[in-house]
Amino acid sequence: MQKINLALLGATGSIGRQTLDIVRSFRDRINLVGFSVHTNVNAIREIHSEFNAEYAVITSDEIKYKSENIKILRGQEGLTELVSLPEVDTVLIATLGTIGIYPTLQALRLNKRVLLANKETLVAFGEFVKNVKTGTLIPVDSEHSALFQLLEHRKSETEYIILTASGGPFRDYSMDALHKVTPEMALKHPTWNMGAKITIDSATLMNKGLEVIEAYYLFDFPPDNIKVVIHPESIIHGMIKLKDNAYLAHMSYPDMRIPIQLALFYPERVQNSKLKDLDLFEIGRFQFFPPDLSRFPLLELAYEALRRGVPYPACITAANDVAVFAFLQKQIKFTDIYRVVEYVFDRCYKEVDTIQDVESLMQEVKENAKEFIQRIS
Ligand code: NDP
Ligand code: MG
Repeated sequence: MQKINLALLGATGSIGRQTLDIVRSFRDRINLVGFSVHTNVNAIREIHSEFNAEYAVITSDEIKYKSENIKILRGQEGLTELVSLPEVDTVLIATLGTIGIYPTLQALRLNKRVLLANKETLVAFGEFVKNVKTGTLIPVDSEHSALFQLLEHRKSETEYIILTASGGPFRDYSMDALHKVTPEMALKHPTWNMGAKITIDSATLMNKGLEVIEAYYLFDFPPDNIKVVIHPESIIHGMIKLKDNAYLAHMSYPDMRIPIQLALFYPERVQNSKLKDLDLFEIGRFQFFPPDLSRFPLLELAYEALRRGVPYPACITAANDVAVFAFLQKQIKFTDIYRVVEYVFDRCYKEVDTIQDVESLMQEVKENAKEFIQRIS
C-alpha cells in the first residue's frame, strides 16, 4: 500500500496536535515529510525526533532558530515551498488566519490533496479556491466533513443542508449576562476542546456564520438552503434534507480526530481503537433549537455577508479576528465583538480582483476595527 506523504501546516495547534496523534497511530501508512509552526519553535525538535520529518517551516519572522538536523524554511514562501516538494502528496492546513491561502492554491494547482481545517482561508478567498479545477479539496471541519460524506452521490436529490451548532457556553444567557462574560468563561466550551480563537467564535456563533460561508464555497448551495440548528449534545454534525422529506444525519462523538482521520484516508475507512465508539444510551436524547439571532447577531451578519458576496466575507472575518483578539486581551466586552464587525461591515465595499487586493482590503479593515476598538474601550 502506498504511504501518505504529509505536510502538516499549523502542527502545534489543536488540530495540528490531533493530526499528529492520528499519524502516531498509523506510522506504517503516513509519513510526515514536513510541518509548520508559527512561534512555538521548541516543538520543532520534539516533532522532528518523534516523526523524523525532514522539513520545518517557521512562519513568524520575529523568531530566530537554527538546527542542524532539520531543514528550516521560512514564512509564507516556506509554506509554498514545502507543499510543492514532489514527495508531498497530501497537505493538511491547520494554521490560524488566512496565510493558508497560498499553500492551498499551490497544492491544488499541483494536483495534490488538500485537507482544509482552516475555515478563514475559504471564507476570505473562496472564489479563488473554487476557480482551481485541479487537486482534491477535503474538508476537515466536523460539520463540513459530515456534509461531504452525506452529499456524496446525493447532491442533486438534496433540497437543503443543515449545520449543527452546540450553541456554546452562553446558549441560555440573557443579553445582560452576555455583557458580563469574561474571556475565561468564554474559553470553556461545553462539548469541543479547540484553540482559543475558534472557542470564542463558537461562543458568539460567529464560528457558525463562518461555517455557513465555508459550506457555500464547498458545496455550492444558495445561502437560504444552508441552515443552522442548535444541537447542544454535539453528536449530530450535519444533516441533509432530501426532496422526499427524508433526512440523513451524520453522528459521532465530538472528537476532531474522526474527521481528520477520514480526510487523511478518504475514501477508505480505517479502524482506530483510540476513537471511542458512540454510546447512544449514555447520550440518551437529542435536542434541537433555532439559533437566537437577537442575542447572537454575528450569525445573521455572516449570512448577510454571503448574500452580498465578495468582498464582504473577507471583511467580516478580518474584523472578527481583531475583535476576538481585543476581547481576549480584555480591551472590549464580549458583546462588543459584534459591534466591531458591524462597524466595518458598511465600510467594506471595494472592487477586488486579485488575492493581493483582498489582502490589502483585509489589512484596511483591521486598521478600521482597531481604531473603533480604541474609541469604545
Ligand atoms: P490553534 O490556535 O490551536 O493553533 C493554530 C496553529 O497555527 C498553531 O500551530 C500556530 O503556531 C499556528 N499559527 C498561529 N498564528 C499563525 C499565523 N499568523 N500564521 C501561521 N500559522 C499560525 O488553532 P486551532 O487548531 O484550533 O485551529 C486552526 C484552524 O482550524 C482555524 O482556522 C480553526 O477555525 C480551524 N478549525 C479548528 C477546529 C478545532 O477543533 N480546533 C475545528 C474546525 C476548524 P504556534 O503554536 O507556533 O503559534
Ligand atoms: Mg466546525
